[in-house]
Amino acid sequence: MSKFSVKTIDDINAKSQHVLIRCDFNVPIVNGSISDDTRIKATIPTIKKIIKDGGRIILCSHLGKAQGKPDPKLTLKPVATRLSEILKKDVKFLHDDKVISSSVLDSIHSMKDGDIVLLENLRYRIEEENNDESFAKELASTCDIYVNDAFGTAHRAHASTYGVAKFVKTCVAGYLLEKEVSILGMLLENPPRPFVGILGGAKIKDKLKIIDNLLEHCDKLIIGGGMAYTFLKAQGYEVGTSLLDESKIDYCKEMLSKAKKLKKEILLPVDTVATIDFPNPIDAKVPTKTFKFAEFDKNYMGLDIGRESIKSFMKALDGAKCVVWNGPMGLFENPSFRLGSYCIARKLSELKGAKTIIGGGDSVSAVSMANVTDKMFHISTGGGATLTFLEGTELPGIKCLNKK
Ligand code: AMP
Repeated sequence: MSKFSVKTIDDINAKSQHVLIRCDFNVPIVNGSISDDTRIKATIPTIKKIIKDGGRIILCSHLGKAQGKPDPKLTLKPVATRLSEILKKDVKFLHDDKVISSSVLDSIHSMKDGDIVLLENLRYRIEEENNDESFAKELASTCDIYVNDAFGTAHRAHASTYGVAKFVKTCVAGYLLEKEVSILGMLLENPPRPFVGILGGAKIKDKLKIIDNLLEHCDKLIIGGGMAYTFLKAQGYEVGTSLLDESKIDYCKEMLSKAKKLKKEILLPVDTVATIDFPNPIDAKVPTKTFKFAEFDKNYMGLDIGRESIKSFMKALDGAKCVVWNGPMGLFENPSFRLGSYCIARKLSELKGAKTIIGGGDSVSAVSMANVTDKMFHISTGGGATLTFLEGTELPGIKCLNKK
């Protein structure tokens, strides 16, 4: 049994029960209309299961950065409308600036089996992000069963993702959360091998613990993107004006020697596509020059991996049976620095029978740019939550659920 196994909605029957489902309805809304409803659609299987049981469904979510104050621009009302269209069923929106009030509770108590309501944006209340116990109790007072299906916020201990569970006996995962947990859990417990980790992006600071933890689990670790330059500097190379975190050079040295000790390979770029001035705007055309690191010009900044590096990374991926990718190989927002991320995405799409897992955020955009989203085994719905999971830290939103 996996240590990540939690009870799910398949372990319960919600007949005539009030079921509070924490969803991730943090969707982009432009002029009052939803421009991308992927996150809403992703929760439908969980909602349908509870409808089938004959449960009484109370949906809740945050939207944007309401910072503890009601903000009409951040109301969840458009989400209720969209949900009603998708489910072909009335989803009653219980607007209240306090989210929960006696009139909201009255509406909830008069629900019938199969009814669905949606609460107002949880972050209208400052107590939500503060994980305030009294707000957690208010949320708990709406339900008999708590379901967490919001993986995107599972790394945060908020009242609706963590605190509430203390006051509800039955706390289970929805299908979306369950899927994320079982796939990410597989990476840390029994990945098909060879298992290759690919890390990129700009913020080395955010990914330190992951490098440390992934080295224990994967067979090879490819490091590209902005974070690679600190590693290259640690090896004594000139990196010019490329992204560099001086304070982490010793850490990079430590990781390189940890890899050696564990007999794992860390692959770093051997060449880089560079320019003198950072493109402004980000997608502006700029002159580029490719350097091998041994010959790097100190006036340049590296913004993508070069062709030799692409070749070496492709080779390292040959025959991989499991890959997790977090962070682009370069400034992929600019066409001149996109090739590295594009080639990685295409290579992953060609790996036969491999479990390719894209860890949220910009890597998801890179995969979509390369037009291979549907060829991936799993696209995670939460960047921050995936990172925390891969660090080996137990996510509060999972920890609070009933264990199998
Ligand atoms: P992160 O949030 O850490 O995954 O970083 C993603 C961002 O890193 C994207 O906006 C990329 O454009 C950026 N990035 C990747 N490689 C580089 C690089 N070599 N220099 C500057 N930014 C980069």
